[in-house]
Amino acid sequence: MKAENNRPEQRLQGTAAAPGVARGPVYLLMKGMAIVACQKVNDSEAEIRRLEAALGATRLEISKLRDDIARKLNESEAAIFDAHLLVLEDVALIDDVSREVKKSGFNVEFCFQEVAQRYIEIFEKMDDDFLRERAADIRDVTGRVLEQLLGTQPERAGEAAKLHVVVARDLTPSDTAGLHDDGVSAFVTEEGGRTSHSAIMARSLDIPAVVGVKGLMEAVKEGDIVLVDGETGLVIVNPTEQTIDAYRDKVQAILTRRDRVMREVALPEVMLDGAPFTLLANIGAPEEMDDAVSYHGRGVGLYRTENLYLRLDAWPSEEEQYAEYAEAVQLAQGRPITFRTLDLGGDKRLGDLADEANPFMGYRAVRLCLERPDVFRPQLRAIIRAAALGPVAVMFPMISGVEELRRAKEIFRRIENELKQEGVTSRSPIKLGAMIEIPSAAMVADELALEADFFSIGTNDLVQYLLAVDRGNQRVAHLYEPCHPAVVRTLARIFLAAKQRGIPAAVCGELAGDPVWAPLLLGLGAHALSMSPAALPEVRFMLRHSSLTELQQLAQRVLSSPEAILTRLLLQDFAAHKLKLR
Ligand code: PEP
Ligand code: MG
Repeated sequence: MKAENNRPEQRLQGTAAAPGVARGPVYLLMKGMAIVACQKVNDSEAEIRRLEAALGATRLEISKLRDDIARKLNESEAAIFDAHLLVLEDVALIDDVSREVKKSGFNVEFCFQEVAQRYIEIFEKMDDDFLRERAADIRDVTGRVLEQLLGTQPERAGEAAKLHVVVARDLTPSDTAGLHDDGVSAFVTEEGGRTSHSAIMARSLDIPAVVGVKGLMEAVKEGDIVLVDGETGLVIVNPTEQTIDAYRDKVQAILTRRDRVMREVALPEVMLDGAPFTLLANIGAPEEMDDAVSYHGRGVGLYRTENLYLRLDAWPSEEEQYAEYAEAVQLAQGRPITFRTLDLGGDKRLGDLADEANPFMGYRAVRLCLERPDVFRPQLRAIIRAAALGPVAVMFPMISGVEELRRAKEIFRRIENELKQEGVTSRSPIKLGAMIEIPSAAMVADELALEADFFSIGTNDLVQYLLAVDRGNQRVAHLYEPCHPAVVRTLARIFLAAKQRGIPAAVCGELAGDPVWAPLLLGLGAHALSMSPAALPEVRFMLRHSSLTELQQLAQRVLSSPEAILTRLLLQDFAAHKLKLR
């Protein structure tokens, strides 16, 4: 596949969003707002009825797409469309449009487009990456409503995009959902970040993707050939024969690696020198247990319970929570599940929680639970009732010191006793753990280890608080450096405290599922690693081909490294060597 034009090779750097390498002719997806004429109308009420009909039809369309994605992927991917359905319920948006129609006397599609554009711009200007990326969701939904009002067909990549690289300014989750069926090789966008829903979906669909490529739409023309490296975020427009040859080897190496990794997916978790290790899954809904089981997770090391609150966008009742936890425990078929109590706040906000200037340091997680018995109590009752069906542990997020952990434990044990009086007893004793994700907790880990049955280290937050770098802020993303010696030494300190007090310490942040980091974590003393289910095979492979002794030696070398860059090289070198085995 060679470019038919004579344009020179051009290299653009973006953010790697989904792994894999692909090459193909460009399919330019040019989506803009539809052109809507502005017309005076006589009957405003009839226009508002048209709006209601369009909202109803869009609701049906999205629900269908949602069910389709739930079948093909899983519930958490489908949840994106629940958020879209909520946009359709947004009373403020609908009221604004109705008011505009009545006030101006213009046609509803014109008023709707004006109001929608205003909403999109508000989100686009937000400082917070996560909220800014939600502009794409609003554009997606309002675009659908507009198509209903206008009676037009949406521009989708479709059959013509088969084996092409889709290039677009930005992709909506609905666009992305269709790319897999259309046989698209890869996609590249000028906007978006790793946490945008399209990027998250691409990882599940297994389509290589690069996002946030500045100058992309300027650089790429119809007829170009594009090579997409989803591992490094490099996009090469019109690659030369030489570049293509070099990449042919890289693609072959990736395929061979995947093949080898999957061949060992069900083999025992034992290292070369006979030392055992334990790999667990991070999930946020009972449906995700399927993946945890098929990738051979030994249990669930982190169940993010706040996902139910976010899915419902409301405080769920004890019964609603019990139904979800009981289903998860039953699907786990005897594998242990560690439920993390509610971790709302930070970037996970429920509509009725007040806005805060500094949400990551604000009213969140266990702080909120200790002040809100109306929230904490039903959740703990639901978990303890579910524990009658299978092995369960509980851990508290954002513990900052011993008093907080004691208070949470006391409340838990009181409720457990109450339930015992009601005749509810758990299958096995419920162990109570502390998440270590705040530097103060790491500093007093030895005292916390006297109170906790186990530790689980949340590296996502620990790194952001240790380095004072907001984990969601693109502008300081280059400073979010887990290889910083302060992070490595803090981890070593936590593992040592756990060891001295005889309690296990797991890691459940993203680092645990990174094959480059997993060897170091075990070498430093982690008892178990918990990660997204899809990451299990590669980490298992990596550890099965290592010995505990060499991991401990690696940890010693890293601990004496004064610089992050040296640590990164040591880890990358170790991983590259292991993944090339045999
Ligand atoms: C963490 O902080 O590492 C963690 C696992 O929790 P979350 O990402 O949900 O904050
Ligand atoms: Mg956390």
